[in-house]
Amino acid sequence: MKYIVMLGDGMADEPLQELGGKTPLEYANTETMDRLAAKSEIGMAHTIPEGMNPGSDTANLAVLGYNPRLYYTGRSPLEALSIGVDMKETDVALRCNLVTLSEETGIPYEERTIIDHSSDEISTEDAAILLEAVRKELENDTYKFYVGTSYRHLLIWDKGMVVDLVPPHDHLGSVIKEYLPEDEMLLEMMKKSYDILENHPLNVERRKKGLNPANSCWFWGAGTRPALTSFAEKTHLKGAMISAVDLLKGIAVGAEMQNIEVEGANGGLHTNYEGKSKAAVDTLLKDGNDFVYIHLEAPDEMGHQGSVERKVQAIENMDSRLIKPLVEALDASGEDYRLLIMPDHPTPICIRTHSSNPVPFMLYDSRKDLKKDWHYNEREASESGNIVVEEGYQLIDRLIRE
Ligand SMILES: [Zn+2]
Repeated sequence: MKYIVMLGDGMADEPLQELGGKTPLEYANTETMDRLAAKSEIGMAHTIPEGMNPGSDTANLAVLGYNPRLYYTGRSPLEALSIGVDMKETDVALRCNLVTLSEETGIPYEERTIIDHSSDEISTEDAAILLEAVRKELENDTYKFYVGTSYRHLLIWDKGMVVDLVPPHDHLGSVIKEYLPEDEMLLEMMKKSYDILENHPLNVERRKKGLNPANSCWFWGAGTRPALTSFAEKTHLKGAMISAVDLLKGIAVGAEMQNIEVEGANGGLHTNYEGKSKAAVDTLLKDGNDFVYIHLEAPDEMGHQGSVERKVQAIENMDSRLIKPLVEALDASGEDYRLLIMPDHPTPICIRTHSSNPVPFMLYDSRKDLKKDWHYNEREASESGNIVVEEGYQLIDRLIRE
């Protein structure tokens, strides 16, 4: 028996006028999902626990069977795992933003104002150069810096503490004094980072180009290594992750699953759908994995862009170019399988961000021949009314229980 989660990130939506009152999932031409849905269970699942943020981190942890209430320790530790930093249990991960502070002459650091938490969304390339300058001066056995993406970097604090720190984007335009770390060492490093970065040639260049200089580090979002039990221990299944997104790769590292790289998988609408499909088939049939989690970022991205047409396209691509060849190959192999198709959270076009509403799922079992007249979409999954999974992290049991 093989198990597959096909996760269409942010795929769920609201009825749209442009689509005659249908949602993108309902409107999209999804031949394969329709065919499978007629032999599937469908239902709704709450993937975001009450009071938690509808982030992809929280939601995907839940779908993979980890109760976010117990296992979510913050975003920076998952970011750490995602960029390949295998945290020790005693490590604390901190987000290290490269920020822009005001540059009045002759005033103490504490009196400066936070102008931009992203240094004009600095490129990763520029950021890496500046962070290297900081690293050379400040890194030691206790504090290690790692380059992430754009303004978002990482500090790992050996035997650190989960101290309370303030996100810079919440206080733009304010004097920083009140928002600085109480921890002396962290404060000291922020001050020194200003001295190192203020007149760095790259910042001189940036000012000339009219860009905000990235003139200070800002630490926040402390968290410990998410102590995910290994997926194999939890489920007795050998599992693999296929995703273009660092966060998902980070979760896989935490769950001790294999990460499978697919060339051309890029998180966008024009990703390598066929490549993901083939990689999933290969890992199940050739590498001896029992479980594969296929994550597709495109529907979420199109939701954030607010494009109805492209979101529909992303769903149709998932159906015809990913799921279709996947089930064809599995059917041809004669291997029994169970396939769970679902989003992690809705990313409704109308709000262009995530919502916490429950999401529709369909669960197909190649051995069963149910005869249903329903399709897989928000409305029918909700109206079918027969399955509502209140705790999303329990859905995985429904998939893998025989
Ligand atoms: Zn998501």
